[in-house]
Amino acid sequence: MRIQEPNRAGSGSSPTETVVSVLMVGVGGQGILMVSKVLATLCQAAGLEVKQSEVHGMAKRGGAVFSHVRFGAKVHSPLIPEGEADVLLALEWAEGLRWLHYLRPEKGVFISDVRRIVPPFACRDRGRGVAPRYARSTPAEIIGRLGTGYALDATGIARDLGNERAANTVLLGVLSTALDFPEEAWLEVITRLVPPKTVDVNRAAFLAGRAWVENAVLPEPAPEPAPPAADPLLGRIVNRLEITREWCKGCDICVKFCPERCLALDAEQIVVPTDPEACTGCRLCEWLCPDFAIRLHKELPAEAAPAGADVGADAVGAAR
Ligand code: SF4
Ligand code: SF4
Repeated sequence: MRIQEPNRAGSGSSPTETVVSVLMVGVGGQGILMVSKVLATLCQAAGLEVKQSEVHGMAKRGGAVFSHVRFGAKVHSPLIPEGEADVLLALEWAEGLRWLHYLRPEKGVFISDVRRIVPPFACRDRGRGVAPRYARSTPAEIIGRLGTGYALDATGIARDLGNERAANTVLLGVLSTALDFPEEAWLEVITRLVPPKTVDVNRAAFLAGRAWVENAVLPEPAPEPAPPAADPLLGRIVNRLEITREWCKGCDICVKFCPERCLALDAEQIVVPTDPEACTGCRLCEWLCPDFAIRLHKELPAEAAPAGADVGADAVGAAR
């Protein structure tokens, strides 16, 4: 979907009265402010007036962050009223759902990573094996209700490109297909604004996002509910924690928040798993560690899959 033809500097096209509103949401550490800055810079370079308003006081890892970007020939207010966002770009699935009411009914475009970052307060019930209280709607359910929507595993795409922190740029690539700015202009701004050593991966991530839209498919109509079939692999997936000792600062966050209480600090104040069998693979420790010192791998036992095969990528939803 194209939102409108922006008034590009020097293009000779007549200024438009329409203001385009893009709301970007996510949690601290995901790079919301970077994508918002890219869009604002791009609009300025195109000769448009831009107003930006953001909240990043919670920009520690896990805190909610959002940014309103509005652009056009004349923009009076930096804030997007409810129900008037032309695009809602979500870097985290539940944050996207939380802001859905800001999207323009029927005409708004929803773009979201399906990555789940479960906040600690969703794990307040610390009983063993208790599921976190996190948004339960699936990408297919949400996308099916919207005029135009994209739900993709941007984090997985970025990880395949070598740096999962470029997931925000994958989503920028998707966003670029909804706005009429030339691909080269996006790439030029991205190249200018990202750290020099990440230019290549960010450019690749942006193009991967655009390519994903080209190949996105409508979800199949929901099949008749079938009786649950026995999954031969069910119960055989093993959760394995990989701890990079050199990166662990012993801050104790993962130990305190692990719902299963299966982590502890050792004598050198480095985290170690104390009860690996109890780990449910909720990934809370991985998401909350400020130093990226913990990774969780979901693996099949050797007889069921090649050794070390990781089957634990977040659920991929691809729908339009
Ligand atoms: S994934 Fe981490 S936080 Fe979750 S149960 Fe396992 S060790 Fe605990
Ligand atoms: S693994 Fe991360 S969250 Fe856990 S103690 Fe070490 S630095 Fe803190």
